[in-house]
Amino acid sequence: MTDEASGVAGEDAACERCGERFPSERLRDLHRGLEHYRALDDAERAAYEAAYESETEDLQSFRLRALAALVLLYFGFLMTYAVVAL
Ligand SMILES: [Zn+2]
Repeated sequence: MTDEASGVAGEDAACERCGERFPSERLRDLHRGLEHYRALDDAERAAYEAAYESETEDLQSFRLRALAALVLLYFGFLMTYAVVAL
């Protein structure tokens, strides 16, 4: 039932230490690094660092896209105002 409910090809991951479930291994690795960092072995710490870098890259990409959308929206409204006000 949970495999069908997850909808992500049955690829949900659970934390071995606290039992919390996550929809992806990346989210589980991030959770382990934030909540159980002292108890991690080298491979788990490497997975956490890789997931952290991947998350950081995604956040930077999102910030750039959000900034571009805001700039386009601002100048779109500005040009619309300039055309309508004339
Ligand atoms: Zn945990």
